[in-house]
Amino acid sequence: MGKLYLVPTPIGNLGDISPRAAETLASADFIAAEDTRVTVKLLNHLGLKKPMVIYHRHNCDAAGPAILDRLLAGEDCALVTDAGTPAISDPGEDLVALCARNGVPVESIPGPCALTVALSASGLPTARFVFEGFLPTNKKNRRARLEALAGEERTLVLYEAPHRLRDTLADLADALGGDRPVSVCRELTKLHEEIWRGALGEAKARWAAQEPRGEFVLVIAGAPRGEEVPPDEAAALQSVEELRAQGLPLKEAAARAAACFGIKKRRLYELALGKDETAD
Ligand code: SAM
Repeated sequence: MGKLYLVPTPIGNLGDISPRAAETLASADFIAAEDTRVTVKLLNHLGLKKPMVIYHRHNCDAAGPAILDRLLAGEDCALVTDAGTPAISDPGEDLVALCARNGVPVESIPGPCALTVALSASGLPTARFVFEGFLPTNKKNRRARLEALAGEERTLVLYEAPHRLRDTLADLADALGGDRPVSVCRELTKLHEEIWRGALGEAKARWAAQEPRGEFVLVIAGAPRGEEVPPDEAAALQSVEELRAQGLPLKEAAARAAACFGIKKRRLYELALGKDETAD
């Protein structure tokens, strides 16, 4: 039985190919690549020559089972995409699932991924985050997704293509509010790397005035935590009085009102006791 290796490749800086990634490419029996023209440049840089097969979004239904057959027959395959970590908003997810279903071991080599590069440099909270990949392009699905994300308290990370950046910033500002902090991470690991920090409304204005160029990751602060509304004790006491006027004993009146107003039974009872001279 062979093994499927997931080999991350640089997202802009060739120096980011790790020794282990290079060794894995060198020792695999064949490479499955998203675009062989892109991968051949990397192999030339590493001084490697390898048999390659194409594995991308549009041929994965046929290419996946063919790769699986070779793995089951004992060959090792290194899966690469054009840049970054396979299976992260890139082909690979289905192949990994296919291998998992068929008992083929999968080994993921750690390495470049635009998501982690952007998040770690964003300056926004990193302890809890949600990766959304690309937002849907279909209007209805996009609106539904944005609505679902508006109240999300964890940091959001999105990928976006330059020609969609303006619309996406505008939609995000509408859905999440123009004041929401954002880090727009552009051309990471490349010569013109830029991490722009500001509010969504400002980002929208900036890229409306300036043509978006290069590759972008958006890291957006989560929604502010819902302020806890303190229970309305005065209204709860008023309710206790009304229930008392209907003939309920104080304890029962306090219990009922406490449940309605989200107050502890005992607390409301004691408050009411202080006011109620006819307490039983
Ligand atoms: N699998 C890749 C990874 O691990 O990052 C992501 C592939 S996805 C098809 C391509 C998207 O990743 C781009 O549209 C952009 O949002 C983001 N991206 C890739 N390289 C980038 C870079 N150098 N700077 C900023 N964003 C980048």
